[in-house]
Amino acid sequence: MFEVHCPYCNEKRPEIEFAYAGEAHIVRETKADELTDQEWAEFLFYRDNKRGDHHERWWHQHGCNMFFNAVRNTLTDKFVMTYKMGVKRPTKTQIKAAKNGK
Ligand SMILES: [Zn+2]
Repeated sequence: MFEVHCPYCNEKRPEIEFAYAGEAHIVRETKADELTDQEWAEFLFYRDNKRGDHHERWWHQHGCNMFFNAVRNTLTDKFVMTYKMGVKRPTKTQIKAAKNGK
């Protein structure tokens, strides 16, 4: 079992308290009625499924009940960093610094 840092509780908690809630930073489509069926399907269902550092949304389901974003490496299954909703997507420099513990 590993632990996940919740940015709202500001502490590490066991992974069983959390649930994956999809890819992070998906911008809601504002002009859905102008999209083709293919574009709408891509907005609804197509995700990056990236290998390596992936931006994800997580839910502290059995804790504070808040959603937050995380960068998790899909190869190692390790969380690089977590951050509150509304915070800008971290840059590669910030991710690199987090990996080095800075
Ligand atoms: Zn929490």
